[in-house]
Amino acid sequence: MPYVRDTLNNLKQSSPAQTEFYQAAEEVLECLRPLFQRCPHYLEHNIIERIVEPERQIMFRICWTDDNGKVQVNKGYRVQFNSALGPYKGGLRFHSSVTSGTIKFLGFEQIFKNALTGLSIGGGKGGSNFDPKGRSDGEVMRFCQAYMTELYRYIGSTTDVPAGDIGVGPREIGYLYGQYKRITGRYEGILTGKGLNWGGSIGRKEATGYGAVYFAQNMLTARAETLQGKTCLVSGAGNVAIYTIEKLIELGAKPITCSDSGGTLHDPDGIDLALLKELKEVQRTSLQDYLKTRDNAHYITADEYPADDHAVWRINADIAFPCATQNELTAADADALLKNGINCVSEGANMPSTTDAVNCFINAKIAYGPGKAANAGGVATSQLEMAQNSSMEQWSLEKVDEKLKAIMANIHQQCADTAAEFDDPTNLVLGANIAGFRRVADTMIEHGVV
Ligand code: NDP
Repeated sequence: MPYVRDTLNNLKQSSPAQTEFYQAAEEVLECLRPLFQRCPHYLEHNIIERIVEPERQIMFRICWTDDNGKVQVNKGYRVQFNSALGPYKGGLRFHSSVTSGTIKFLGFEQIFKNALTGLSIGGGKGGSNFDPKGRSDGEVMRFCQAYMTELYRYIGSTTDVPAGDIGVGPREIGYLYGQYKRITGRYEGILTGKGLNWGGSIGRKEATGYGAVYFAQNMLTARAETLQGKTCLVSGAGNVAIYTIEKLIELGAKPITCSDSGGTLHDPDGIDLALLKELKEVQRTSLQDYLKTRDNAHYITADEYPADDHAVWRINADIAFPCATQNELTAADADALLKNGINCVSEGANMPSTTDAVNCFINAKIAYGPGKAANAGGVATSQLEMAQNSSMEQWSLEKVDEKLKAIMANIHQQCADTAAEFDDPTNLVLGANIAGFRRVADTMIEHGVV
């Protein structure tokens, strides 16, 4: 089908050096081929070229002063990708590796993820190449204030509602919100992931990790298996990883790893969740400090493995939850997982598996839940936060968790049904991409050429 190749080639010309974005676009467009064969009207409306182009991209300079009185300059981004289904929705990432291509890939994925939730949310993403790691609270606050001083004019509770992502947790959301309120004088739901005292939703912090585990549960149930007693590999040691581990323990599974940018922690007795939370949520320190209190655990530093191999995926277990960052699981890692008998992978992170790794999982026909389906619980619960803000209510944990479970079950069902409809019943990547795309594309057609 020439349209797919042409569109990808045009992207490379018009948006140079955005490799992560091409990777995300290629995966979606390749999956859509059978849909275009059955439904050529999507091509007639030229949805394919319209959907890969963001509606709006905002880039700005952020100047702030560090603790030594030195003026620092960072880049700021907000990509408002697609508003067919509702206000732009998607997190902010603060990490030194962030480029406009990173934000574009994340915003593009967000369109289809948000569509799969069945809720009224469009796709967007933002961030900065600022890294909060190693910065004092005062520095993080001044940076967040400077960032919001630019961003505030582009967001709103019915237009664009950012949230957290890598490097943006409750502390950063608080500083961003405070500055928005100071500038505008308004107290409204312009961010999600807010504190419980000031408009946040119970259960939002836990939602992405819990959702990834619920998605795994759904995949396993469809194969007459359960999580009970299963040994699990988890990567990352941030928000998504911690609450994946929490839910796994609650459901009787045994998570034995987590990781940070320095390396992999392996605790064969099962991760001590309270200790992990203390190290990462309170002290903000390295995972290596875990070894001070747990004798049986060991920490494998990242440089002990070649660039394309990751220690966390070489450990024997039943199920894998990649929860750190994009392309953290390569084809070599996927091979190792499959050889070790892994039969289920549920992605908490966005695009954590490389294209070749994804193909290994699809070909092996294991239960593989791609990030845009498996980690959609976070954004879905953000939308529940928006609903609570607009009705001035606060729901109980039971109510939020019940809704999260139902949303994850529904996403799984849509992916499985769509995969079956296109004669590839175990391929949830195909199912997720087609189901998400159809909802957005049908709406774009109904809205006319805008
Ligand atoms: P956090 O910042 O809380 O944690 C990120 C974790 O990943 C940290 O342990 C970090 O280690 C590690 N990490 C980050 N970059 C790298 C890297 N280049 N190499 C190795 N390890 C790395 O982020 P979240 O937990 O919120 O996000 C994790 C993933 O989940 C991301 O892909 C994000 O897009 C995705 N996601 C998050 C959602 C949310 O609600 N927060 C919603 C949906 C998806 P270190 O601290 O050493 O840097």
